Amino acid sequence: MTNEIPELYGSLVFNDKVMRTKLPKDMYKALKKTIENGTHLELDVANSVAVAMKEWAVENGATHYTHWFQPMTGFTAEKHDSFIQPAGDGEVIMEFSGKELVKGEPDASSFPSGGLRATFEARGYTAWDPTSPAFIKDGTLYIPTAFCSYGGQALDKKTPLLRSMEVLSEKAVKILHLLGNKDVTGVSTTIGPEQEYFLVDKELYNKRKDLVFCGRTLFGAPAPKGQEMEDHYFGSIKPRIAAFMHDLDRELWKYGIPAKTKHNEVAPAQHEMAPIFETANVAVDHNQLTMDTMKKVAEKHGLKCLLHEKPFEGINGSGKHNNWSVSTNDGVNLLNPGSTPAQNIQFLVFLMAVIKAVDDYADMMRISASSAGNDHRLGGNEAPPAIVSIFLGDELTAVLQSIENDTYFGKQEKVQLETGAHVLPHFVKDNTDRNRTSPFAFTGNKFEFRMLGSAASVSNPNVVLNTAVAEALEQFYHELEGTKPEDMEHAVHELIKRAIRKHKKVVFNGNGYTDEWVKEAEERGLYNLPTTPDCMPKFIEDKNVELFTKHGIFTKEEIFARYEILLENYVKTIGIEARTMADMLTKDFLPSVSNYAGKIAANAAGKKAFMPTLSMSAEEALVSKLTDAYEFITENVADLKKIIEETLAIEDMQAAADACRDKVLPKMDALAARANEIEALIPDEELPYPTYEKLLFAI
Ligand code: ADP
Ligand code: MG
Repeated sequence: MTNEIPELYGSLVFNDKVMRTKLPKDMYKALKKTIENGTHLELDVANSVAVAMKEWAVENGATHYTHWFQPMTGFTAEKHDSFIQPAGDGEVIMEFSGKELVKGEPDASSFPSGGLRATFEARGYTAWDPTSPAFIKDGTLYIPTAFCSYGGQALDKKTPLLRSMEVLSEKAVKILHLLGNKDVTGVSTTIGPEQEYFLVDKELYNKRKDLVFCGRTLFGAPAPKGQEMEDHYFGSIKPRIAAFMHDLDRELWKYGIPAKTKHNEVAPAQHEMAPIFETANVAVDHNQLTMDTMKKVAEKHGLKCLLHEKPFEGINGSGKHNNWSVSTNDGVNLLNPGSTPAQNIQFLVFLMAVIKAVDDYADMMRISASSAGNDHRLGGNEAPPAIVSIFLGDELTAVLQSIENDTYFGKQEKVQLETGAHVLPHFVKDNTDRNRTSPFAFTGNKFEFRMLGSAASVSNPNVVLNTAVAEALEQFYHELEGTKPEDMEHAVHELIKRAIRKHKKVVFNGNGYTDEWVKEAEERGLYNLPTTPDCMPKFIEDKNVELFTKHGIFTKEEIFARYEILLENYVKTIGIEARTMADMLTKDFLPSVSNYAGKIAANAAGKKAFMPTLSMSAEEALVSKLTDAYEFITENVADLKKIIEETLAIEDMQAAADACRDKVLPKMDALAARANEIEALIPDEELPYPTYEKLLFAI
């Protein structure tokens, strides 16, 4: 049984093994060179690869191919073309050329472009990304591609990521060479995205408009039991869920996605899947494919997979922990504290670069995780606060302190002090404590960015992180440039001393969920940007525009386009939510309230007629409560409808987003609070939609 897994793994992927068997040797070598060094691909190689791909795809049942890309919706897009070519006499052959492999020209007018591409110039290009393997899904050959406009501007999530990986590699190699490590010719960013999700029964799901249209409940009285018993996290997995997880693993493995860990999460009906880390670009593609596969496999099991960041009020929402590191092409993880002083110098330089990057661009890190959905999570004492800070753990903090204060670092246990000539402390791998409240935690040999929401593309934070770290490394390079090798250790010591003094304000090892931290963070001068509209103006601030334009990640136009799209997405999302709420309250909820009030009143009248001396005070109180709420909700739904239409009519996107935050959301909160209070008084069978209790505990 288990022996079949190695065979199953990657069986739908045009991977190295397939390429080696299918491609002529010289073509294979040329392709590998392109994949590994990013060199230009000649047309004859592309033609050869196309033939091999088509042959393999057809052998495996594919009839179509698609250029698969990641527009700025955050989802993926695809358009399928069949391989058939007329061959005369009404016959066809299956054909696929290098040109078709390398470039596509989808009509791009209906994808968000933030004004980058006027609709009259609808053409966009998709360009094959040979660094992410093609695969077969549902009878189609999927070719991962980048998506850009006619003028070459990036219209997707992949292009900037590839650019940022390249820049980071270049800057990292430069400083590694300066530090004496001359063997390295490239570094790659590695990502392990842990994916959280909810599973609910499909039939129940279909009865709730809010889940169908918004992916989250807009109101709902809490179930008598939530997550307070802490019995779901790592709890035993129910058979129906286990069957889903089993199928999911197999589907993911076929795509060559290294699904590794599965378990129940904190909230009822919440679960997690973590893959083994991969190169950033592949990890991002694989995470998109994972989300897609989760939804599909759920359907097969009569379930719905909710990827929304906050499907239910009052219990935890879902995140996506972005585990990030950098490793050299000779296989060294640069965030692994080494076993020699030389390796530790490298480690400290890269560690310090990350600290500096996150401190200097904390606002951009926050923006990279911002969306209407994720705003419900951040700062809710279930996910990290909206304040970006770094957890280093006691040991590493002490190491940096000892450098800052020129004191030797030797008191801690598990630490070996390198005495003698070495100025830098020598320490063994840091066994970091767990701190679940930190948005950005060092976890031994990688950083874990925990702000990202479950639905987001993993691309966003990594573009920021890669670029900001590249910038920090470049600055460090200039500080160290010209240092003689024998003085290097001292120079690095001094550099870290300067840097930690400047950036230690972003290091925080305490509990991020407390009010004291919010106050302290403000005193330290850290950003606290609770909502998407709060952080968006930072996106277009000079320092951030400079960072991305300097390193060729985005042009100024591309930044403004992305800024517009993010705001627009926020406003549209809240628009849909407000309209859905109004609809659901009016058509589903209020009739139940009225019916139930009528029933109670009729019952009471009946009893009174039977025995006129009976007190009806409980019934009267209930009917009056229901009736008051009916009036309140009716009036406020009318207000909400007016406010949302006014808001959606605002042309300036920042102003519209501000209005969502200040007017629409508070109105929705007030309505939800009242509806929840009343829903708790109404029997389940009187309600036209399933309650939290059913949704969360039915499986
Ligand atoms: P934790 O116990 O902190 O969750 P794990 O070892 O289970 O740590 O790793 C969590 C995620 O981090 C996994 O997806 C794993 O593959 C990933 N990860 C481990 N090492 C690295 C690395 N060097 N770069 C990026 N991700 C990594
Ligand atoms: Mg983790």
